[in-house]
Amino acid sequence: MSRPSAALPPLTGLASPDLSWHQDENGSIGPVSTQFDDVYFSRHDGRAETEHVFIHGNDLPRRLAAWTHPRPFVVGESGFGTGLNMLCAWACFETHAPPQARLHLVSTERFPLLRDDLARALSAWPELATHAERLVQQWPEPVAGVHRLLLDERVTLDLHFGDAAERIALLDGQVDAWFLDGFAPAKNPEMWRPELFSALAAASRPGATFATFTCAGIVKRGLAAAGFAWRKAPGYGRKREMLRGEISLPPPNERRQATPWFTPPDVKIPQHVAVIGAGIAGATAAAALARRGIAVTLIDRFDRARLEPTHLQGALYVKLAADTNLQSRFYLAGLLHSRRWLAQLDPHHTLWQPSGVLQLGTSEKEQARQASFLANHALPESVVRGLDSTAASAAAGIEVNTPALDYPNAGWVKPIELCAHLATTPGVAFHQGEVKALHAVATGWALTLASGTIIEADQVVIASASEASSYAETAALPLQPVRGQISQLTLPAGAPPLGRVVCAGGYVPPAADGVLNFGATFHPGEVDPHEREADHAANLAELERGLPALVSALCSAGAKLTPERLTGRTGIRAASPDKTPYAGPVPDAEAWRNDYASLAKDATRIPAIPGRHYPGLWLSTAHGSRGLSSAPLCAEVIASRICDEPLPLEWPLVDHLHPGRRIIRDLVRGNKG
Ligand code: SAM
Repeated sequence: MSRPSAALPPLTGLASPDLSWHQDENGSIGPVSTQFDDVYFSRHDGRAETEHVFIHGNDLPRRLAAWTHPRPFVVGESGFGTGLNMLCAWACFETHAPPQARLHLVSTERFPLLRDDLARALSAWPELATHAERLVQQWPEPVAGVHRLLLDERVTLDLHFGDAAERIALLDGQVDAWFLDGFAPAKNPEMWRPELFSALAAASRPGATFATFTCAGIVKRGLAAAGFAWRKAPGYGRKREMLRGEISLPPPNERRQATPWFTPPDVKIPQHVAVIGAGIAGATAAAALARRGIAVTLIDRFDRARLEPTHLQGALYVKLAADTNLQSRFYLAGLLHSRRWLAQLDPHHTLWQPSGVLQLGTSEKEQARQASFLANHALPESVVRGLDSTAASAAAGIEVNTPALDYPNAGWVKPIELCAHLATTPGVAFHQGEVKALHAVATGWALTLASGTIIEADQVVIASASEASSYAETAALPLQPVRGQISQLTLPAGAPPLGRVVCAGGYVPPAADGVLNFGATFHPGEVDPHEREADHAANLAELERGLPALVSALCSAGAKLTPERLTGRTGIRAASPDKTPYAGPVPDAEAWRNDYASLAKDATRIPAIPGRHYPGLWLSTAHGSRGLSSAPLCAEVIASRICDEPLPLEWPLVDHLHPGRRIIRDLVRGNKG
């Protein structure tokens, strides 16, 4: 099974650094850490020093010019600071790399700068202004964990917030060139500890290089003990020496010994992928693959591009457990990712609104749960905070009688319009049809459609919600359909506008286009697509229970709040037994049951057999009603794995999403399925 949550550092907000600002003789400014008593970049032309030490120290101009692999070149770094080093790597890539090449930057930071300080520091480099602007725009919330920024079509930055040694040990990915930055070892010995060097070695590609400004003894000893060869090179400016070197044979990755079943399948980067299902899971996967230059055929039985107005709004929300667990970590990462991704995809908010989401403490039990969540998680108030009923009412724009959890930056999305938009991503070809069966062929997979059409593709992503388990290859995965119906009311003039998506039993977003959505019902095991009056009645009853003030204001404004006057939309969602999505390669369930049969007798007898998977078959499903928060990040997980890139989550969370997890759990519990 995946490691327990305790193996991960706390899910918490991170402190910003204490800064002062120095000014050089030319008037340009730069930050100084008062805590570490050290500069972020040299007072004498920091950019030239970065170019000398890190860029040329890793021979990047030559290596990037020669980069013709379909996977991205990966640069890793120990202390992100102002991002100057990474922006210089990006600029170097633009100057030297061939047009098809891609760059992936991975950096750790324990004390993330405030956004304004970041912008101020980077204003020292006008020639990097456009790069800096992309970074500042997407600068993540200071929450421990991984934050993926899509800097441009070819360049991705993963910011791993937290201690460098801890974060690199959690990295699921391999690095080609390391920038060993961080304050001077004498001033920051805690970072330059042996665990950092062993984590760097374990996350290195064979032949990975490194460069660093320091020649300190603990660095030389640490590097050598971890297997890096180092040599001195001339330093920049007044610094006499620096270090550079490489690791020819990184140590074997031992973390898979405890969970060999999660060993990723061998990589063969495809040219053409078929994605089954053009809902949020499939459409985001298609767009993520197309961004990587892969031709995608996106298949759905409904013509997702022919839009009738639905006025449907989905909540961008999560429900986090009072005690930190892997699922909550994933969902919070997903929410933060979706928020950033949507802001970049649709900066003018035609498809979504960051209205904020309020979760009412509708019972004493729920209030206690919320209080203990807040006590256990010191997260930034911009991410989630507790409000008393007065503040909650002010935020909601209507009286609520309970305290609440407020997610000020979450909101709502028009899911139908979002999926239609993603289906038009360049590189994605939409095909209307119903996939009946999959067949392995020499070049990959052949998909047989109900019409008799056959579509061939190198690889396949199955993203068809509860129907994802309807193929022979996926039939063993437990997946349950869940019917949900939303009710819709055309608002009368004078109805009060909501200030937030309000979640009580169900959810109610602020009305867009004059239509109020509320619901949804929750019927596990049901697949009836027809609208039901009884479900409208249930949604109304729920609204009256959760937001009585809204109901009476609507009635006073003349709304006809009776089930027969409501319209609505029905959707069939999919849920896994543990309510975490399935995102990853499709396991060969029969092979797993044979290979790991010994677990049924003794869970500590772990056969050293890597998990067998159907080659080139992937799954993104079981997103339940939280797909807007989970699917965009799952799409990145799958696309990154397919393209041999670092993953946008810590490895225990990647394992937590693995579609094979229930097979192992059932074996361990003696249930052979
Ligand atoms: N590379 C940076 C740039 O391009 O601006 C400059 C790095 S600055 C000299 C050192 C950075 O390392 C600071 O941002 C500091 O907060 C960070 N740092 C210090 N200790 C750390 C640790 N244990 N883990 C991760 N980052 C750390």
